[in-house]
Amino acid sequence: MNTAASLSAPAYDYLLVGGGAAGLSLAYHLAQEPRLAGKRVLLIEPEAKDQNDRTWSFWADEPGLFDAIATHEWHAIAFRSPSFERTFNLKKYTYRTLRGLDFYQFVHRALGVRPAQFTLVRAEVADLVNTSTGVEARTTTGQVFAARYAFDSRPPAITTQPATYRYLLQHFVGWEVETTRDVFDPQAMEFMDFRGAQHHEARFIYVLPYSPRRALVEYTLFSATPLAKAAYEAAIVEYLQHTLGLSASEYQVTAEEVGAIPMTDHPLPARVGAHIINLGTRAGRAKPSTGYAFQRIQAQSARLAQALATTGHPPADPTGDKWQFHLFDTLLLDIMQRRGEQTRDIFTQLFQRNPVERIFQFLDEKTSWTDNLRIMNSVSAWPFLRSIGQLVRGRASQRE
Ligand SMILES: Cc1cc2nc3c(=O)[nH]c(=O)nc-3n(C[C@H](O)[C@H](O)[C@H](O)COP(=O)(O)OP(=O)(O)OC[C@H]3O[C@@H](n4cnc5c(N)ncnc54)[C@H](O)[C@@H]3O)c2cc1C
Repeated sequence: MNTAASLSAPAYDYLLVGGGAAGLSLAYHLAQEPRLAGKRVLLIEPEAKDQNDRTWSFWADEPGLFDAIATHEWHAIAFRSPSFERTFNLKKYTYRTLRGLDFYQFVHRALGVRPAQFTLVRAEVADLVNTSTGVEARTTTGQVFAARYAFDSRPPAITTQPATYRYLLQHFVGWEVETTRDVFDPQAMEFMDFRGAQHHEARFIYVLPYSPRRALVEYTLFSATPLAKAAYEAAIVEYLQHTLGLSASEYQVTAEEVGAIPMTDHPLPARVGAHIINLGTRAGRAKPSTGYAFQRIQAQSARLAQALATTGHPPADPTGDKWQFHLFDTLLLDIMQRRGEQTRDIFTQLFQRNPVERIFQFLDEKTSWTDNLRIMNSVSAWPFLRSIGQLVRGRASQRE
């Protein structure tokens, strides 16, 4: 252990561990804050981040810091299930998409023009600990770095799964396809298409139509276990050929996206000791009931940058999460874990009985108590009552 580093003033003000969505978002927010211009920031990331390893999509009702690199935006979304289909005008919202690679390059460029403020080190952090003056990080190659505060976005290490909590994944395979004739409506993205077989789980098709002949088509599940790759591919082919009526020669796959996002109410602490703040998925920013994380990461980054600029310290509560929304997430996860096929009915009732703005606001955890009640009244009570019973007993539901 480099004790000299722990006893003297740390070399850096802020250490960012991991330069993916959360680490780079916080770096960018720090770079945008003039009151933090004199701070020294060290970012440690093992990967080059030169691949387009994911596409982030989200809804927003105000401009964001990354709008300039959004590849597409939509003003309407479609929801479909066997009993209900509708295309919704998003009014004040837009649904936006950015490519991972564009985001990595954009933030790296912004940090690169501030070399006195930002230092990037290509390494993997093995240990991160609180010290009397801040934090100390040791890399797998034995380098030691000290800072006043660390912001840690390494993937969460969930080693055990106690029966008290729920453990699902949002898992998917997406194909970017080009077709030889017009089949997509670039005005409306397909938010959830639940018309396919559910197999006692929540399974839907998600489509980002970039043009009448180009789209990302994703087969997405909320369930405990990933499928064999061929099963996702078969569902995408089924959608292309049967739902859209394309023959095999009328489309080609130009890119692929594969992912699994944790959907869990397992506690993911936002803070570790006095000087380590967790970020991103590690801090529970992937919303447990939907897997959406990008906007929650932006909100946390803004909250942290604002507190650092005004008080010199991270806020006592680094996320600002509200307990009632955590409860809604837990109940929905519990239902998904017990009877995944009910998810389709719950989302159908939500979309059938609420304006889409209220649904987005609710999922953004910004609704009033009155609107929360409206949302709860719009869905069948019985599955939720059963899950409340499980919660009271302190046990997560198991598959029935
Ligand atoms: C394929 C895919 C698509 C997604 N699409 C969406 C979407 O459309 N909308 C949405 O809201 N959310 C989406 N998500 C969820 C979420 O937004 C992303 O997972 C997001 O990247 C999470 O940010 P993060 O910083 O927590 O993790 P990452 O972006 O994965 O960043 C973590 C970083 O930590 C680095 N790291 C790992 N170990 C170490 C170590 N020991 N030391 C230092 N660094 C380390 C990794 O190399 C990585 O760069 C998607 C997720 C995936 C996987």
